[in-house]
Amino acid sequence: MTAPPVVELRGATKAYPGGVHALRGVDLTLAEGELVAVVGPSGSGKSTMLQLMGTLDRPTSGSVRIAGHEVAALSDAGLCALRARHVGFVFQHFHLAAGRDAVDNVADGLLYAGVPPRRRRALAREALARVGLDHRRGHTPQELSGGEKQRVAVARALVGAPRLLLADEPTGALDTASGAVVMELLHELNAAGTTVCVITHDHGIADALPRRVRMRDGLVVADAARPGKGRP
Ligand code: ADP
Repeated sequence: MTAPPVVELRGATKAYPGGVHALRGVDLTLAEGELVAVVGPSGSGKSTMLQLMGTLDRPTSGSVRIAGHEVAALSDAGLCALRARHVGFVFQHFHLAAGRDAVDNVADGLLYAGVPPRRRRALAREALARVGLDHRRGHTPQELSGGEKQRVAVARALVGAPRLLLADEPTGALDTASGAVVMELLHELNAAGTTVCVITHDHGIADALPRRVRMRDGLVVADAARPGKGRP
């Protein structure tokens, strides 16, 4: 039997109070090991779709399956467990805890994974070494550059060894060189087997990824494999 796709959206809609139809029936499948860019104008539903993929929110109608699990059928605790086991997030503005050092911030990525505190910190140190920040592990976010903060956030996302890494404008607040380092890390993670989905406004980044999904007005309007960029 083949493994279910990492992400499967079928007719997924999302309406917010006030009559905003952020998603109007999205079909999208991400297979294990893909590296996908999501592009489209502001307000087209990209972040909303990523939140559904990350089980941070539920669809208004339609189906969202993550690693074969139907999100609508799970309790909040079940969703939390699914997220802890399968999903890592990276956000544009890092979302690190101020006043806590890099190790603590990364260890927090394992808070809901049932890992004891000492083990969490050991794994956090390993993850920081993986993103090249071993030497900065005792620093708080205030003492780190934007690029370093985002590398801490990537370490926090990868420390739980997620199958799916979701990144919402991960380079949007960074200079070009720091953004390139972060994208390189995401490519490395993908090469090691993680499915990666990146929202970006940066054409250069989108063009370098093997698949590009374009959204407009709450719908996927184009979905193209990019020849020569690897899978799919
Ligand atoms: P994008 O990421 O492409 O900029 P979003 O998914 O953030 O688009 O937003 C899609 C639409 O949904 C927009 O019209 C936005 O204003 C609206 N929206 C997003 N989040 C909320 C929310 N929590 N409450 C109400 N409307 C929202």
